Amino acid sequence: MRKKIIAGNWKMNNSPEDSKNLVRDTMRNISFGKEKNLNVIFCPPFTSLSLVSEIIGHHKENGVFTGGQNCHWEERGAFTGEISASMLKSSGADYVILGHSERRQYFNETDEIISKKIKVALKNHLIPVFCCGEKLLERKDHRHFEIVEKQISLGLFPNFSELPEGIFPVIAYEPVWAIGTGETATPNQAQEMHFFIRSLIAKKFGNGKAASVSILYGGSCNPKNSGELFIQPDIDGGLIGGASLKPEEFIGIINSI
Ligand code: PEP
Repeated sequence: MRKKIIAGNWKMNNSPEDSKNLVRDTMRNISFGKEKNLNVIFCPPFTSLSLVSEIIGHHKENGVFTGGQNCHWEERGAFTGEISASMLKSSGADYVILGHSERRQYFNETDEIISKKIKVALKNHLIPVFCCGEKLLERKDHRHFEIVEKQISLGLFPNFSELPEGIFPVIAYEPVWAIGTGETATPNQAQEMHFFIRSLIAKKFGNGKAASVSILYGGSCNPKNSGELFIQPDIDGGLIGGASLKPEEFIGIINSI
């Protein structure tokens, strides 16, 4: 059975001290063991990653992990300001968010760059959380399926045939118009896209692979709307931005799954 996942993307927020307080406040209120098939992932900024990984420590056995928010596509070298996949791994991360729309928009990441990042992440035994999603105009033009198919075909699928044993990418569908805007896709809109994504995987790699990929929804998720989204058959959890910075909201979302 595929995993349910709630991942918190803290983005460029929180000093190490703030991170410590946030993760402790959140962890204190997670009721472990309630949902055995659930992974909770904290994705703090790089400067807090080791600290947060240490705090969650032995809770990996309870399904609590950390992830990076990005990595470089090369293993090492003269790339001032960049962080490698192996650095994330040695800082305690098990996951890495790749292809987030903010990286695509502000840092010009193309599908080809994202594909290279996925490759290096997998090589270092990090599970990529691959983000895809259309912009508002693309949805208005009814091109959302075409856009998401292109992102997945170019960014993710080239790496699908050589997955390391036991490592399976997670996909996050995040309509760009819903990220940080307070607008959420309706449960029907999200389910329709998640079903489409799963069908793409089934067509190319078979029903077995399609059934085992966790597909998360992201875009202004909060405890009020998360329950309706997570009950959809192809929505396996959420990638949460703003609400992951507030322990009571993040916990509310976790409890709604
Ligand atoms: C995100 O950045 O991945 C995200 C979903 O943000 P928010 O929940 O704030 O819309």
